[in-house]
Amino acid sequence: MLFEFSLNTPAEAMVNITTEVRHAIKESGVNEGICVVYCPHTTAGITINENADPDVVKDMLLGLNKTFPDLPEFRHAEGNSAAHLKSTCVGAEKSIIISKGKPVLGTWQGIYFCEFDGPRTRKFYVKILG
Ligand code: ZN
Repeated sequence: MLFEFSLNTPAEAMVNITTEVRHAIKESGVNEGICVVYCPHTTAGITINENADPDVVKDMLLGLNKTFPDLPEFRHAEGNSAAHLKSTCVGAEKSIIISKGKPVLGTWQGIYFCEFDGPRTRKFYVKILG
């Protein structure tokens, strides 16, 4: 079963999409399986990280910006090569185990859509395999 979601993003953000993923799993009726969360964009990504302290997300974006600065040597005419680098570093998808009809996540884990070159209207997919 495939679910498609859309969201409007700011310039950069980590948007918590855990609720959407939980709803997709529930609607699929799958109790034991795998869930793939996939981002079809080249300057965005999907990650799993802490959902308790909102400063973690801010620090992650800060760290990614320090790690992947916008370099004057970049050739890509669109001018967003740093965002492409962050997208590749974070990755386009995450696979999550489904058990007892729920995603297997740690207490402090959330699933995030990462925007590195917004604002844009973005999509992500949730594929449920049972
Ligand atoms: Zn580009």
